Order: sequence, then C-alpha cells, then structure tokens
Amino acid sequence: NSFASLGLSEPLLKAIEEQQYTRPYPIQQDAVPAILQGKDILGIAKTGSGKTASFVLPILELFHRTKTVSSRFASVLVLVPTRELAVQVAEVFQTLGTHLFPKVKTVAVYGGVSINPQMIAVHGADIVVATPGRLLDLLDQRALRLSDVEILVLDEADKMLELGFADEMDKLFDLLPEKRQTVLFSATLGDAIQQINATLLRNPVTVEV
Ligand code: AMP
Repeated sequence: NSFASLGLSEPLLKAIEEQQYTRPYPIQQDAVPAILQGKDILGIAKTGSGKTASFVLPILELFHRTKTVSSRFASVLVLVPTRELAVQVAEVFQTLGTHLFPKVKTVAVYGGVSINPQMIAVHGADIVVATPGRLLDLLDQRALRLSDVEILVLDEADKMLELGFADEMDKLFDLLPEKRQTVLFSATLGDAIQQINATLLRNPVTVEV
C-alpha cells in the first residue's frame, strides 16, 4: 500500500513525495499497476478521487522505462472536455514528471485562443493534452499526426459528450492507430459511454471509486 509497491521508480517517487502524497488513493492502487501492464481501463471516477494521477503516474513511468529515443510524433494523447482541464492535466504531467525532464515534453492545446503558438508548441511533444475541436484543427493544419499514438486517454468522457464533442471524437478515433492502449475515465456510465467502451476498449479492467 505504497507508491513504490505500485511499480513506480525513483524519479516519480521523489515527485510524489514533493507533492506530499503519502499514500495512493484507491483509484491509483487499481489503475497504476493495470496501466503499467498495458491493460485498457474503464475508470468510473469523479474529480477529487485522484483520477488524474492514476493515469499520469503510470504513463510517466512507461516513459522512464523506455530507453529508446522518443518517436517523431506524440505517443500519448489525452482528450479532455475543456480548456481548464487541459491546462490542469498538463500541469500534473509537468509536476509529477519534473525529475524526468527533459525526457518528456507535454503540451496542452485547446480552443478559444490563437492556433499559431500551439502549432509551434506541439512540435516534438511526447504527450498532447487536447480538447477535440482544436486537435482536429491542428491536424488539418498538419501541425501534428496521430500515427504514433500508443496510449489514448479520454478524461471526463461523459462531459465531452455532454458538450457535443461526439462527432469530433469519432473523427479522431478514426485517425488513431488500432494497436494502442486506451484509458477511459468518466464520472457516469451511461449508454453513450458504454458504447465507447464497447467500440474502443479491449478487455478493459474496470476501476471504480
Ligand atoms: P483529481 O481527482 O485528479 O482532480 O485529484 C484531486 C486532488 O487530489 C488533486 O489536488 C491532487 O493533487 C490530489 N491527490 C491526488 N492523489 C493524491 C494522493 N495519493 N495523496 C494526496 N493527494 C492526492
């Protein structure tokens, strides 16, 4: 019942200590080892449960373990419903990944601001945290590609659907490699989420708080 026992290494344990997280939350106990094993995850969790660290920590650990040079395009894509959440999730990657610097580059991209700086910022990013509409715009502009994505995270998927991003999400799913790991977090488990679960996830481990 410690972060070390979940399979996380020194650079992450150090950051966890600096953040004064003493014990993993239940969602983290379940999700971290499963994600490290490469499993798909269906997570039913609300804000405040510690859901963000439950995917950020294992993803950073996988980067730490990879000795190879990083791929040309992003290998991790995190889709979120809002600009606020994009910024927040990217910050958690930065904070918990601080001792992996400069190995992992994370950027947040979202609508409502000029696209030009984001076109430059996504260049060479390993982890892209994005709202669906802006990500499609960046793909149209050929600022990035999704061909190297190995891990897809859908955070607050129910809220993404509520905000009317279903069509954008479908377009994005079509552009992702079939061979990948998928992590889906949602506060609720309605029909539309079940549908995404059925079409995108393979033998998912369900984690619930
Ligand atoms: P989230 O549910 O991801 O929005 O996280 C809620 C809050 O809990 C954030 O402020 C995190 O920094 C904090 N947090 C996440 N995991 C832990 C932990 N194991 N111990 C203490 N605080 C945590």
